Amino acid sequence: MRFSKLRLNGFKSFVDPTDLIIADGLTGVVGPNGCGKSNLLEALRWVMGENRPTAMRGGGMEDVIFAGTATRPARNFAEVSLQIDNTTRLAPAAFNESDLLDVVRRITRDIGSAYKANSKDVRARDVQMLFADASTGAHSPALVRQGQIFELINAKPKARRRILEEAAGISGLYARRHEAELKLRGAETNLLRVDDVIEQLGNQLSQLARQAKQAARYKELGASLRLAEGLLLYRRWKEADEARFTAEEALRAGTVTAAQAETAVQKAIKAREICEAALPASARRRGHCECSLAAVERAKRHAW
Ligand code: ATP
Repeated sequence: MRFSKLRLNGFKSFVDPTDLIIADGLTGVVGPNGCGKSNLLEALRWVMGENRPTAMRGGGMEDVIFAGTATRPARNFAEVSLQIDNTTRLAPAAFNESDLLDVVRRITRDIGSAYKANSKDVRARDVQMLFADASTGAHSPALVRQGQIFELINAKPKARRRILEEAAGISGLYARRHEAELKLRGAETNLLRVDDVIEQLGNQLSQLARQAKQAARYKELGASLRLAEGLLLYRRWKEADEARFTAEEALRAGTVTAAQAETAVQKAIKAREICEAALPASARRRGHCECSLAAVERAKRHAW
Protein backbone atom coordinates (compact mmCIF):
# COMPACT_ATOMS: atom_id res chain seq x y z
CA MET A 1 0.00 0.00 0.00
CA ARG A 2 1.37 3.39 -1.06
CA PHE A 3 -0.12 6.87 -0.75
CA SER A 4 -0.49 8.18 -4.30
CA LYS A 5 -2.50 11.42 -4.03
CA LEU A 6 -3.79 13.83 -1.40
CA ARG A 7 -6.66 16.08 -2.40
CA LEU A 8 -7.72 19.01 -0.21
CA ASN A 9 -10.92 20.99 -0.65
CA GLY A 10 -11.81 23.78 1.78
CA PHE A 11 -9.28 22.44 4.29
CA LYS A 12 -7.57 25.28 6.17
CA SER A 13 -5.77 27.52 3.66
CA PHE A 14 -6.58 25.18 0.72
CA VAL A 15 -9.92 26.73 -0.15
CA ASP A 16 -9.96 25.49 -3.77
CA PRO A 17 -9.56 21.80 -4.63
CA THR A 18 -5.83 21.09 -4.59
CA ASP A 19 -4.07 17.83 -5.47
CA LEU A 20 -0.72 16.80 -4.03
CA ILE A 21 0.59 13.99 -6.20
CA ILE A 22 2.78 11.69 -4.11
CA ALA A 23 4.79 10.01 -6.85
CA ASP A 24 8.22 8.40 -6.94
CA GLY A 25 10.85 11.07 -6.60
CA LEU A 26 8.86 13.39 -4.37
CA THR A 27 11.20 14.14 -1.52
CA GLY A 28 9.87 17.39 -0.12
CA VAL A 29 7.56 20.40 -0.33
CA VAL A 30 9.29 23.72 -0.14
CA GLY A 31 7.67 27.09 0.33
CA PRO A 32 7.76 30.33 2.26
CA ASN A 33 6.57 30.62 5.81
CA GLY A 34 2.80 30.34 6.11
CA CYS A 35 2.28 28.90 2.63
CA GLY A 36 0.55 25.77 4.05
CA LYS A 37 3.26 23.07 4.31
CA SER A 38 2.20 22.01 7.81
CA ASN A 39 -1.45 22.10 6.70
CA LEU A 40 -0.63 19.33 4.21
CA LEU A 41 0.72 17.10 6.97
CA GLU A 42 -2.30 17.92 9.12
CA ALA A 43 -4.61 17.03 6.23
CA LEU A 44 -2.87 13.67 6.01
CA ARG A 45 -3.31 13.07 9.77
CA TRP A 46 -6.90 14.28 9.64
CA VAL A 47 -8.00 11.99 6.81
CA MET A 48 -6.45 9.05 8.70
CA GLY A 49 -8.83 9.68 11.63
CA GLU A 50 -7.19 12.29 13.90
CA ASN A 51 -9.82 13.47 16.37
CA ARG A 52 -7.85 15.86 18.62
CA PRO A 53 -8.43 19.50 17.56
CA THR A 54 -5.14 20.41 19.26
CA ALA A 55 -3.28 18.16 16.82
CA MET A 56 -4.79 20.35 14.10
CA ARG A 57 -3.66 23.48 15.91
CA GLY A 58 -7.30 24.43 16.50
CA GLY A 59 -9.76 24.87 19.36
CA GLY A 60 -12.45 22.71 17.74
CA MET A 61 -12.51 20.33 14.82
CA GLU A 62 -14.49 22.79 12.69
CA ASP A 63 -11.45 25.08 12.74
CA VAL A 64 -10.05 22.99 9.88
CA ILE A 65 -12.74 24.43 7.57
CA PHE A 66 -11.55 27.41 5.52
CA ALA A 67 -12.41 30.39 7.73
CA GLY A 68 -12.53 32.99 4.95
CA THR A 69 -10.34 36.01 4.15
CA ALA A 70 -10.93 39.63 3.34
CA THR A 71 -11.69 38.67 -0.26
CA ARG A 72 -13.25 35.19 0.05
CA PRO A 73 -16.16 33.99 2.19
CA ALA A 74 -15.77 31.11 4.62
CA ARG A 75 -16.61 27.60 3.45
CA ASN A 76 -19.25 25.40 5.06
CA PHE A 77 -17.32 22.17 4.75
CA ALA A 78 -13.85 20.76 4.32
CA GLU A 79 -12.93 17.55 2.57
CA VAL A 80 -9.67 15.64 2.30
CA SER A 81 -9.29 12.57 0.14
CA LEU A 82 -6.33 10.20 0.22
CA GLN A 83 -5.72 7.88 -2.69
CA ILE A 84 -3.82 4.70 -1.90
CA ASP A 85 -2.19 2.42 -4.44
CA ASN A 86 -3.31 -1.08 -3.50
CA THR A 87 -1.88 -3.05 -6.43
CA THR A 88 -0.06 -5.26 -3.92
CA ARG A 89 -3.49 -6.06 -2.41
CA LEU A 90 -2.26 -5.77 1.15
CA ALA A 91 -5.21 -3.74 2.43
CA PRO A 92 -7.46 -5.33 5.10
CA ALA A 93 -10.09 -7.69 3.65
CA ALA A 94 -12.95 -5.14 3.92
CA PHE A 95 -11.04 -2.64 1.72
CA ASN A 96 -9.14 -5.01 -0.55
CA GLU A 97 -11.53 -5.11 -3.49
CA SER A 98 -9.67 -2.85 -5.92
CA ASP A 99 -6.20 -1.66 -6.92
CA LEU A 100 -7.03 1.87 -5.87
CA LEU A 101 -8.32 2.75 -2.40
CA ASP A 102 -9.89 6.17 -1.95
CA VAL A 103 -10.46 7.30 1.65
CA VAL A 104 -12.42 10.51 2.12
CA ARG A 105 -13.16 12.50 5.25
CA ARG A 106 -15.57 15.40 5.14
CA ILE A 107 -16.56 17.76 7.93
CA THR A 108 -19.63 19.99 7.68
CA ARG A 109 -20.35 22.82 10.08
CA ASP A 110 -22.76 21.79 12.90
CA ILE A 111 -22.95 18.25 11.51
CA GLY A 112 -19.51 16.76 12.09
CA SER A 113 -17.27 14.31 10.28
CA ALA A 114 -18.17 11.48 7.94
CA TYR A 115 -15.88 8.95 6.25
CA LYS A 116 -16.09 7.10 2.95
CA ALA A 117 -13.89 4.37 1.54
CA ASN A 118 -14.30 3.78 -2.20
CA SER A 119 -17.59 5.78 -2.05
CA LYS A 120 -19.03 3.60 0.70
CA ASP A 121 -19.87 5.07 4.13
CA VAL A 122 -17.54 3.69 6.81
CA ARG A 123 -16.93 4.36 10.50
CA ALA A 124 -13.99 6.42 11.80
CA ARG A 125 -12.81 3.30 13.64
CA ASP A 126 -12.70 1.31 10.35
CA VAL A 127 -10.49 3.97 8.77
CA GLN A 128 -8.25 4.14 11.85
CA MET A 129 -7.87 0.34 11.82
CA LEU A 130 -7.10 0.36 8.09
CA PHE A 131 -4.12 2.65 8.64
CA ALA A 132 -3.09 1.00 11.91
CA ASP A 133 -2.89 -2.35 10.09
CA ALA A 134 -0.70 -0.68 7.48
CA SER A 135 1.57 0.51 10.33
CA THR A 136 0.67 4.15 9.92
CA GLY A 137 -2.14 6.44 11.02
CA ALA A 138 -2.87 9.82 12.55
CA HIS A 139 -0.59 9.12 15.51
CA SER A 140 2.19 7.53 13.52
CA PRO A 141 5.65 8.67 14.64
CA ALA A 142 6.50 8.65 10.92
CA LEU A 143 4.56 11.90 10.64
CA VAL A 144 6.95 14.37 12.17
CA ARG A 145 5.66 17.83 12.96
CA GLN A 146 7.74 20.90 13.72
CA GLY A 147 9.85 20.48 16.82
CA GLN A 148 9.09 16.80 17.06
CA ILE A 149 12.64 15.61 16.24
CA PHE A 150 13.88 17.46 19.29
CA GLU A 151 11.09 15.87 21.37
CA LEU A 152 12.00 12.39 20.04
CA ILE A 153 15.65 12.76 20.92
CA ASN A 154 14.63 13.62 24.47
CA ALA A 155 11.78 11.06 24.53
CA LYS A 156 11.36 8.47 27.24
CA PRO A 157 12.07 4.79 26.34
CA LYS A 158 8.32 4.10 26.12
CA ALA A 159 7.88 6.66 23.32
CA ARG A 160 10.93 5.29 21.47
CA ARG A 161 9.48 1.80 21.77
CA ARG A 162 6.43 2.97 19.78
CA ILE A 163 8.68 3.95 16.88
CA LEU A 164 10.40 0.55 16.93
CA GLU A 165 7.07 -1.28 17.14
CA GLU A 166 5.77 0.61 14.16
CA ALA A 167 8.91 -0.18 12.21
CA ALA A 168 8.28 -3.85 13.06
CA GLY A 169 4.70 -3.48 11.76
CA ILE A 170 2.96 -4.51 15.00
CA SER A 171 1.33 -1.22 15.98
CA GLY A 172 -1.91 -2.42 14.35
CA LEU A 173 -1.84 -5.40 16.67
CA TYR A 174 -1.69 -3.06 19.66
CA ALA A 175 -4.74 -1.20 18.44
CA ARG A 176 -6.55 -4.50 17.96
CA ARG A 177 -5.43 -5.71 21.37
CA HIS A 178 -6.84 -2.55 22.94
CA GLU A 179 -10.11 -3.10 21.09
CA ALA A 180 -10.17 -6.78 22.14
CA GLU A 181 -9.52 -5.75 25.75
CA LEU A 182 -12.44 -3.32 25.62
CA LYS A 183 -14.67 -6.04 24.18
CA LEU A 184 -13.45 -8.48 26.83
CA ARG A 185 -14.21 -5.98 29.58
CA GLY A 186 -17.66 -5.45 28.07
CA ALA A 187 -18.21 -9.22 27.95
CA GLU A 188 -17.11 -9.53 31.59
CA THR A 189 -19.56 -6.82 32.62
CA ASN A 190 -22.28 -8.59 30.66
CA LEU A 191 -21.36 -11.87 32.37
CA LEU A 192 -21.71 -10.22 35.77
CA ARG A 193 -25.09 -8.92 34.73
CA VAL A 194 -26.07 -12.39 33.48
CA ASP A 195 -25.01 -13.83 36.88
CA ASP A 196 -27.26 -11.29 38.62
CA VAL A 197 -30.14 -12.16 36.30
CA ILE A 198 -29.56 -15.91 36.89
CA GLU A 199 -29.62 -15.33 40.66
CA GLN A 200 -32.84 -13.32 40.38
CA LEU A 201 -34.42 -15.99 38.19
CA GLY A 202 -33.31 -18.68 40.68
CA ASN A 203 -35.14 -16.81 43.47
CA GLN A 204 -38.21 -16.43 41.29
CA LEU A 205 -38.01 -20.13 40.40
CA SER A 206 -38.01 -21.33 44.02
CA GLN A 207 -40.88 -18.92 44.77
CA LEU A 208 -42.83 -20.26 41.79
CA ALA A 209 -42.10 -23.86 42.83
CA ARG A 210 -43.54 -23.09 46.28
CA GLN A 211 -46.61 -21.50 44.72
CA ALA A 212 -47.03 -24.44 42.32
CA LYS A 213 -46.94 -26.87 45.29
CA GLN A 214 -49.57 -24.80 47.08
CA ALA A 215 -51.72 -24.69 43.95
CA ALA A 216 -51.51 -28.51 43.56
CA ARG A 217 -52.51 -28.98 47.24
CA TYR A 218 -55.37 -26.50 46.76
CA LYS A 219 -56.55 -28.43 43.70
CA GLU A 220 -56.41 -31.73 45.61
CA LEU A 221 -58.29 -30.32 48.60
CA GLY A 222 -60.83 -28.66 46.28
CA ALA A 223 -61.56 -32.01 44.60
CA SER A 224 -62.00 -33.75 48.00
CA LEU A 225 -64.23 -30.92 49.19
CA ARG A 226 -66.41 -31.09 46.09
CA LEU A 227 -66.76 -34.88 46.52
CA ALA A 228 -67.70 -34.52 50.22
CA GLU A 229 -70.22 -31.77 49.37
CA GLY A 230 -71.72 -34.00 46.67
CA LEU A 231 -72.07 -36.92 49.07
CA LEU A 232 -73.65 -34.66 51.72
CA LEU A 233 -76.13 -33.21 49.24
CA TYR A 234 -76.97 -36.72 48.00
CA ARG A 235 -77.57 -37.91 51.56
CA ARG A 236 -79.80 -34.92 52.35
CA TRP A 237 -81.75 -35.48 49.17
CA LYS A 238 -82.17 -39.18 50.02
CA GLU A 239 -83.41 -38.34 53.53
CA ALA A 240 -85.80 -35.71 52.17
CA ASP A 241 -87.10 -38.19 49.58
CA GLU A 242 -87.74 -40.79 52.27
CA ALA A 243 -89.49 -38.18 54.43
CA ARG A 244 -91.60 -37.16 51.44
CA PHE A 245 -92.57 -40.77 50.82
CA THR A 246 -93.56 -41.29 54.50
CA ALA A 247 -95.55 -38.06 54.48
CA GLU A 248 -97.38 -39.11 51.31
CA GLU A 249 -98.26 -42.44 52.94
CA ALA A 250 -99.56 -40.65 56.04
CA LEU A 251 -101.53 -38.24 53.84
CA ARG A 252 -103.08 -41.09 51.95
CA ALA A 253 -104.11 -42.83 55.21
CA GLY A 254 -105.41 -39.54 56.64
CA THR A 255 -107.46 -38.90 53.51
CA VAL A 256 -109.06 -42.37 53.75
CA THR A 257 -109.87 -41.81 57.47
CA ALA A 258 -111.29 -38.38 56.74
CA ALA A 259 -113.48 -39.81 53.98
CA GLN A 260 -114.75 -42.52 56.34
CA ALA A 261 -115.46 -39.92 59.06
CA GLU A 262 -117.30 -37.80 56.50
CA THR A 263 -119.46 -40.77 55.57
CA ALA A 264 -120.17 -41.48 59.28
CA VAL A 265 -121.11 -37.84 59.84
CA GLN A 266 -123.51 -37.97 56.87
CA LYS A 267 -125.07 -41.11 58.26
CA ALA A 268 -125.42 -39.57 61.74
CA ILE A 269 -127.07 -36.49 60.28
CA LYS A 270 -129.51 -38.63 58.41
CA ALA A 271 -130.25 -40.70 61.56
CA ARG A 272 -130.87 -37.55 63.53
CA GLU A 273 -133.26 -36.26 60.91
CA ILE A 274 -135.18 -39.56 61.01
CA CYS A 275 -135.31 -39.46 64.81
CA GLU A 276 -136.47 -35.89 64.81
CA ALA A 277 -139.23 -36.64 62.36
CA ALA A 278 -140.44 -39.64 64.45
CA LEU A 279 -140.69 -37.79 67.79
CA PRO A 280 -143.84 -35.76 68.93
CA ALA A 281 -143.30 -32.07 69.12
CA SER A 282 -143.03 -31.93 72.98
CA ALA A 283 -140.39 -34.63 73.14
CA ARG A 284 -138.68 -33.44 70.02
CA ARG A 285 -136.83 -30.69 71.80
CA ARG A 286 -135.34 -33.05 74.51
CA GLY A 287 -134.95 -36.00 72.19
CA HIS A 288 -133.44 -33.81 69.64
CA CYS A 289 -130.66 -33.04 72.05
CA GLU A 290 -130.15 -36.69 73.07
CA CYS A 291 -130.36 -37.94 69.53
CA SER A 292 -127.88 -35.33 68.40
CA LEU A 293 -125.46 -36.16 71.19
CA ALA A 294 -125.67 -39.92 70.54
CA ALA A 295 -125.14 -39.39 66.84
CA VAL A 296 -122.13 -37.18 67.45
CA GLU A 297 -120.64 -39.75 69.84
CA ARG A 298 -121.14 -42.49 67.23
CA ALA A 299 -119.60 -40.41 64.56
CA LYS A 300 -116.57 -39.72 66.75
CA ARG A 301 -116.07 -43.40 67.50
CA HIS A 302 -116.33 -44.21 63.88
CA ALA A 303 -113.75 -41.62 62.96
CA TRP A 304 -111.14 -42.77 65.46
P1 ATP B 1 5.77 27.60 8.54
O1 ATP B 1 6.83 27.27 7.52
O2 ATP B 1 5.93 28.96 9.08
O3 ATP B 1 5.59 26.58 9.55
P2 ATP B 1 3.67 26.56 6.89
O4 ATP B 1 4.07 26.61 5.45
O5 ATP B 1 3.78 25.26 7.57
O6 ATP B 1 4.39 27.68 7.72
P3 ATP B 1 1.00 26.43 7.72
O7 ATP B 1 1.28 26.56 9.17
O8 ATP B 1 0.72 25.10 7.18
O9 ATP B 1 2.21 27.07 6.94
O10 ATP B 1 -0.16 27.37 7.29
C1 ATP B 1 -0.52 28.46 8.00
C2 ATP B 1 -1.50 29.22 7.16
O11 ATP B 1 -2.71 28.56 7.08
C3 ATP B 1 -1.75 30.57 7.79
O12 ATP B 1 -1.64 31.54 6.76
C4 ATP B 1 -3.15 30.48 8.26
O13 ATP B 1 -3.82 31.71 8.14
C5 ATP B 1 -3.75 29.48 7.33
N1 ATP B 1 -4.89 28.85 7.95
C6 ATP B 1 -4.87 27.99 8.97
N2 ATP B 1 -6.15 27.60 9.28
C7 ATP B 1 -6.96 28.21 8.40
C8 ATP B 1 -8.38 28.24 8.21
N3 ATP B 1 -9.22 27.52 8.94
N4 ATP B 1 -8.87 29.02 7.21
C9 ATP B 1 -8.06 29.74 6.45
N5 ATP B 1 -6.73 29.75 6.59
C10 ATP B 1 -6.16 29.02 7.55
